[in-house]
Amino acid sequence: MAQKTALIVYAHQSAGSFNAAVRDVAMQELVEQGYKVIVSDLYAMKFKANATQDDIIGDLKNPELFQYGEETMHAWLEDRLSDDIKAEQHKVKEAELIIFQFPLYWFSVPAIMKGWMDRVLTQGFAFSLQKMYNNGVFKDKKAMLSFTTGATQTMFQPDGINGDINITLWPLQNGTLHFCGFQVLAPQIFWSPVHSTPAVRTAMLDGWRARLKGLLAERPLTFAPCELFDLSFQGKFLLRPKVKEEQESQPYGLTTGHHLGKPLPPDNQVSAQASGGRK
Ligand SMILES: Cc1cc2nc3c(=O)[nH]c(=O)nc-3n(C[C@H](O)[C@H](O)[C@H](O)COP(=O)(O)OP(=O)(O)OC[C@H]3O[C@@H](n4cnc5c(N)ncnc54)[C@H](O)[C@@H]3O)c2cc1C
Repeated sequence: MAQKTALIVYAHQSAGSFNAAVRDVAMQELVEQGYKVIVSDLYAMKFKANATQDDIIGDLKNPELFQYGEETMHAWLEDRLSDDIKAEQHKVKEAELIIFQFPLYWFSVPAIMKGWMDRVLTQGFAFSLQKMYNNGVFKDKKAMLSFTTGATQTMFQPDGINGDINITLWPLQNGTLHFCGFQVLAPQIFWSPVHSTPAVRTAMLDGWRARLKGLLAERPLTFAPCELFDLSFQGKFLLRPKVKEEQESQPYGLTTGHHLGKPLPPDNQVSAQASGGRK
């Protein structure tokens, strides 16, 4: 059987960081499971974070009005994307599993990792209007966020100072990963390693190692499938009236994003069990 490949897209500046330790645990564990593990160490690679004309080799289709999405789609079709983008796209194609490993920056990924998403997940390669969400290009691949925070877990509760972590995760997990079709595994969150004792930090790494042993067998998070929506410009990509009607009697919204004006379904973006499908 062909060897399986995992890609770790990693963004931390320091080899002695907790993020580096988390990455190393994943590498060791996945190699032990027989995986080929590729790491894109974005700072070490000095990965270019900004989406510019330099990403396209050769003439632009419309030099008067530069449109990054359009130009990169054509460049992808004609094999004219810059070498660094092509190299990352090759890794994505090869991988069955992608882990994004990063410290939470401003409720999101660090800019260098956002740049990886902006530049690597180009139209055509990663998505199209016909191929998105559960019908997306990468529907046979798994992806997950693994990240550290400065904040404690209680700060990210619905009644905590930062608000509900499920809302923080929705744009990355639904808007980027699931939009491109990935089956999104529940995130691995390392709450506030900076403010934890060495023993707690060691326990966090042990917990991660234990989870990795069964990671690929995990059920992914559940999102609202495209089939619930009228995917036409006349239908405005809205929830089908019948589905909306069915949802009226439900106590919670459909997902974190499709809340339908109701209380958010608890833990919808952090637990596969809680995200559990249509209620
Ligand atoms: C621009 C910016 C924006 C930010 N925005 C947010 C935000 O929106 N929300 C939020 O919550 N936080 C935010 N933060 C904080 C940030 O998320 C944390 O600082 C980061 O997650 C900590 O992870 P680290 O890997 O850098 O920790 P480190 O400081 O590298 O590590 C923590 C501790 O773990 C120790 N350690 C390293 N290796 C091991 C090991 N093998 N075993 C045990 N211990 C080990 C280290 O020595 C250190 O004592 C932000 C920070 C920045 C700079």
